[in-house]
Amino acid sequence: MYQNPSTHQEGASFKLHYGDMTDSSCLVKIIAQVRPTEIYNLAAQSHVKISFDLSEYTAEVDGVGTLRLLDAIRTCGLEKQVKFYQASTSELYGKVAETPQNEKTPFYPRSPYACAKMYGFWIVINYREAYDMFACNGILFNHESPRRGENFVTRKITRTVAKISLKQQEVLELGNLDSKRDWGHARDYVEAMWMMLQLEKPDDFVIATGETHSVREFVEESFKFIGKTIEWRGSGVDEIGVEKGTDVVRVKVNPKYFRPTEVDLLLGDASKAKSVFGWTPKVGFLDLVKDMMTADIELMKNNPRA
Ligand code: GDP
Repeated sequence: MYQNPSTHQEGASFKLHYGDMTDSSCLVKIIAQVRPTEIYNLAAQSHVKISFDLSEYTAEVDGVGTLRLLDAIRTCGLEKQVKFYQASTSELYGKVAETPQNEKTPFYPRSPYACAKMYGFWIVINYREAYDMFACNGILFNHESPRRGENFVTRKITRTVAKISLKQQEVLELGNLDSKRDWGHARDYVEAMWMMLQLEKPDDFVIATGETHSVREFVEESFKFIGKTIEWRGSGVDEIGVEKGTDVVRVKVNPKYFRPTEVDLLLGDASKAKSVFGWTPKVGFLDLVKDMMTADIELMKNNPRA
């Protein structure tokens, strides 16, 4: 709904509308005009670190925005026709109460982003129960692809390592190297979103790979892809990653990327999604790194300023 309508092409099977999650009347207008049968609410200020700086805005868009969209559906009288998907998130688990995390694991949000998404999660359940709406929460663990925003850690790593391989950059600066994430491929996860809306009954599902890896491992594998081995030296903010053989410093820690409160470890258990609708991920960790590295090397070759 955010896209520029000028990209609309005659005869194309989609149409883009301007919209904004902080503007109820535009949401009502779009829904009244389009009369959709499925709505996927992926609209968000989705960056955890930025949410500490834009906390009120994040609450408006990610939290109250979800309520606006649900209410817009009701205002249009479509609550019995529309199937609604809410992009919930593994960030809800935050300071995790147990590992792995499943649909029954208690939430402990650790950022304004996660707190806003917590409101979104519960308002979806409330509207499902109060108005009998077909509304699902997909509790998706981190999902990545070559299209990932460049300020998320995976893409930041693959972009910079691609530049290093082409001698366009020397060093990669990161924050916490030891946090662990359950990283999957966005392609698999989008399929899970669609599958949820094809069920007979709405419900909430964890979508995850069931594997966890550290930021450090993501760095090591990305460098391996360009034929370099990283050796770690020092500790804390003084830790560096050097290139084996040449001793060139390739990775540095910069505290400006630390978060006021961190989520140390996420690992999801998607067995409910597997048993209810047969979803399993097709792309593993190493193939994800490979896909992102391949795309970023191609991008940087063709456009060194990208
Ligand atoms: P998140 O899980 O939604 O916060 O996804 P991100 O990709 O933004 O961050 C994943 C993890 O990588 C977090 O624990 C961050 O603290 C850690 N991290 C370490 N260095 C960086 C960095 O330079 N940028 C980002 N975005 N995250 C970093």
